[in-house]
Amino acid sequence: MAVTDHVDLNGFMEGVKKRNPHQPEFVQAVQEVAEDIFDFIEDKEEYHSAQILRRIAEPDRVVSFRVCWEDDNGNVRVQRGWRVQNNNAIGPYKGGIRFHSSVNESVLKFLAFEQTFKNALTGLPMGGGKGGSNFNPKGKSVREIMRFCQSFMIELYRHIGPDVDVPAGDIGVGGREIGYMFGQYKRITNHWNGVLTGKGLEWGGSLIRTEATGYGAVYFLANMLATRDQDLEGKTAVISGSGNVATHAAEKIVQMGGKVLTLSDSGGFIHDPDGIDQEKIDWVKKHKTYRRGRIEEYVEAFPKATFHEGKTPWGVECDVALPCATQNELLGDDAKKLVDNGCIAVSEGANMPTDLEGVHIFKEAKLLYAPGKASNAGGVAVSGLEMSQNSERRSWKEEELQQMLKDIMAGIHKRCEEYGKQDGGYIDYVKGANIAGFKKVADAMLAFGVV
Ligand code: NDP
Repeated sequence: MAVTDHVDLNGFMEGVKKRNPHQPEFVQAVQEVAEDIFDFIEDKEEYHSAQILRRIAEPDRVVSFRVCWEDDNGNVRVQRGWRVQNNNAIGPYKGGIRFHSSVNESVLKFLAFEQTFKNALTGLPMGGGKGGSNFNPKGKSVREIMRFCQSFMIELYRHIGPDVDVPAGDIGVGGREIGYMFGQYKRITNHWNGVLTGKGLEWGGSLIRTEATGYGAVYFLANMLATRDQDLEGKTAVISGSGNVATHAAEKIVQMGGKVLTLSDSGGFIHDPDGIDQEKIDWVKKHKTYRRGRIEEYVEAFPKATFHEGKTPWGVECDVALPCATQNELLGDDAKKLVDNGCIAVSEGANMPTDLEGVHIFKEAKLLYAPGKASNAGGVAVSGLEMSQNSERRSWKEEELQQMLKDIMAGIHKRCEEYGKQDGGYIDYVKGANIAGFKKVADAMLAFGVV
C-alpha cells in the first residue's frame, strides 16, 4: 500500500487549519466538503493514495498583486488584487471577480474551492477559480471605477485567457465593470476572445446570463419542491440581498406564482406584506443598480412596507427562503427561526450564506436545503454557454438558452439526488452536491497521474 496520510476527518482538518492560518472562511468551506467526502472515500483506496482531497484543497496557485489607481482628486490609492486558480482538471479555471472591502485571500480561496465543485456539477468543462480586490466601489465615481478596472487588468491579463482562466462578475462587478476590464484586456493584448463572461450583448455576451443565477436558484427550488409533490404557487418567500441574484430570484418566484415578502442590503431588510411584485422589483433594480441607492428607501416608494435597520429577514414567517446576499449571513439561530416558523425549503443564491451550525440544523429538521454550489450554479452554467457561443462565433436564441438553463438545473438536482438520497427517502443535497462534484474532478485528476 502507498504511504499516505490516512488520517481521520479531525486530523485532516487540523492540517488544513495549520497550513491556512487566519483563513476561517476557507477552513469552513473545506470542512463542509470534507465531512461528506471522508465517508464517501472510506473504502476507495485510489482516492486516498493519490491524496485527491488534499490536492483539491490546495489551490494550483494564488496570484496576489498591487493595484494602484488615482481618485478624482488626484490622490494615489493602493489596493490588493488576487486571482485564485484552484483546480483545472476538467476545464479552464472559471469563476467571478469580487470587488468589496471584505475581500481577502481567505474569502477568495473559499470561493475558488467551492467553485471547483459547482462547476463540475453543471456538467460543463470548467475548472474552479475566483478573484477580486478589497476595492470598495461604493461612493466611487464612474471614472474612478473605470480607472480601477483598467489598473486591475494591467496585471490580471497575464494570468487569464479563453483556454486558461475565464473570469466573470460577482459582488460589486457587473456588466459595466466587465466592459471596462474587457476593453483594457483587448487594448493590452490586441485579442478579441471569450476571456471574460458576463459581457454586453453587443460584444459577445449571452442572453439570460444576467438573470441566470437567480432564475436557476428558483428552478432548483422548484425541483426540490416537486420531490414532495409541491410547487411555488401561493408560497411565501423570504429573500435576502437586493443585487443581481436576489432581484432575479424574486422575479422568477413571482413568475411561478409565489409571493416575495422581503429584500435586504447591508443596511437592513424591508418587509412588504403585500408582496414585492414585478413593478416593485423593477423599481429595486433601478434604484440599486443605476441610482446606487439603499434598500431602506423602498419604504418611501411603497409605504405599506417596513424597514428593519441592521437586521436580517430570517425571522419573517415564510414557506421558502433564499439567502442571496453574501457568505455567513444565515447563522444557527436564524436557521432555528426558519424551521420553527414552518419554512419547508431553502435554496441558496449566494455562496456559503449559511454557517455550519445552520447547515446542521436544516439537515436535522429534514428541510429541503440546497447549498449554493448546487442551487446557484445557473450563473456559471450560462457563463459556460457564453464561452461556447464565443468559440463558435455565434449567439444562441433566448428560448434555447432558457431551456438549457432549466435542463442544467434539473441535471444538477438529479446528480445531488443520486449521491444524496438517504434511507427513508430524504435527500441530503449538501452531501449529494459534494460527492457528485468531487467524483468528477477526482476521476479526472486520477487520469492525469501525480501532477
Ligand atoms: P451584487 O453586488 O449584485 O449584490 C449583493 C447584494 O448583497 C447587495 O444587496 C448587497 O448589499 C448585499 N450584501 C453584500 N454584502 C453584504 C453583507 N455583508 N451583509 C448584508 N448584505 C450584503 O452581487 P450578486 O447578487 O451578484 O451576488 C450575491 C451573492 O451571490 C454572492 O455570494 C455571490 O458570490 C453569489 N453568486 C453570484 C453569481 C452571479 O452570477 N452574480 C453567481 C453565483 C453566486 P449592499 O448594496 O449594501 O452592499
